[in-house]
Amino acid sequence: MEEKKYELGDIVELKKKHPCGSLQWEVVRMGADIKIRCLGCDHLVMIPRVKFNKQLKKVVRKEN
Ligand SMILES: [Zn+2]
Repeated sequence: MEEKKYELGDIVELKKKHPCGSLQWEVVRMGADIKIRCLGCDHLVMIPRVKFNKQLKKVVRKEN
């Protein structure tokens, strides 16, 4: 599988839908763990980078 590139502040879509119905998340912290915020309900989640990479469907870049 190809490596998808993402940066802090990017909007990403995950394969799994959050219970609130949103697929899109904002990357708010990067490290060994990725911290993301659900755009639907503001819920914050920490995911190990390896797991995040598997869940990542696509990166929706910010406008700037
Ligand atoms: Zn949500």
